[in-house]
Amino acid sequence: MDSAIRIRGLEKEYGEVRALDGVDLDVPKGSFFGLLGPNGAGKTTFINILVGLVKKSGGSAEVFGADVEDDYREARDRIGLAPQEFNVDRFFPIREVLEHKAGYHGIPRQEAGERADEVLRRVGIYDKRDTRFDWLSGGMKRRFVLARALITEPDLLILDEPTAGVDVQLRHDLWDLITELNEAGTTILLTTHYIEEAERLCDEVAILDSGEIVEVASPEELMDRGPDKVTISLRNPPESAPHLSAGRDRIQDVELDGDELVVTAPEAGLLAPELVRELDRKGFEIVHFDISRTSLEEVFVEMTRADESTGGRDESADGKRADDEPAAVTGGEKA
Ligand code: ATP
Repeated sequence: MDSAIRIRGLEKEYGEVRALDGVDLDVPKGSFFGLLGPNGAGKTTFINILVGLVKKSGGSAEVFGADVEDDYREARDRIGLAPQEFNVDRFFPIREVLEHKAGYHGIPRQEAGERADEVLRRVGIYDKRDTRFDWLSGGMKRRFVLARALITEPDLLILDEPTAGVDVQLRHDLWDLITELNEAGTTILLTTHYIEEAERLCDEVAILDSGEIVEVASPEELMDRGPDKVTISLRNPPESAPHLSAGRDRIQDVELDGDELVVTAPEAGLLAPELVRELDRKGFEIVHFDISRTSLEEVFVEMTRADESTGGRDESADGKRADDEPAAVTGGEKA
């Protein structure tokens, strides 16, 4: 497989904290890849190692075959990063910020200006080009960090929670934009706490928990592992859940919740006709019938449930200590 990102035995320790504990991962070229994990799982550390902001403690990390430390420049030039936290020169007009960034990556002045206009149009804030970053709204700031990531026309776009705190309209705009980029060949690495976002966008997701990869699969494969839920509203509900013989060896649970009968079973669609016939035979009138699949969120919660016996993981995003080390690689700008 041709990998955009190739990680072997990656480790990171911050003093006593093992933020990454031997991660192996391949992100295929051209894929839309999700990195999911609860707070403190190690996602930002992983990304920061890729872009040279944090020095790994062990293992190897390559971006399009370039080692992120030994071939830092080569690896970094292929990556566009839209980080979770805004780390932008606040006092310059945003168009200038983009030109500086392009210049830093060796793009000639005139081309830098053209590209700046193009990416500002692309993310929909061209009319704000002469405004300084501080004066943009929260949503425009999100758009801007994406524009900044795109100015170098990266082959790998890393989006660290790109839709945190944005309104529905912008979320959809961003989804459309990154989907277009991916379709045009850009590899996307996305972290998000909106699991529905990953379910909708990603070809494949890795679930990271306490510094370890617990699963790599497509959202479809993961959702197939959980049972479906059939919710049947009845006009005249019985006192208690009726005994059902339809697919009885497959049904995992039957519950009556008010006038709704809730049946849990894998591949419930196959069971539906039989279920309807049986309820009809028994004299129930069905008002509404709905089958829902296990969501990726339910599978995710199950897989990353904290092990309470060991004290679990760090639940707090503020659990980070202040003793951050500076970027290990000199000459690297911050994001
Ligand atoms: P979130 O979803 O909350 O952003 P995350 O998955 O990005 O979390 P990281 O920020 O990578 O997780 O943190 C992983 C672990 O490393 C946490 O236990 C965190 O407290 C710790 N950590 C991160 N940065 C530092 C640092 N500079 N110094 C000490 N510990 C750190």
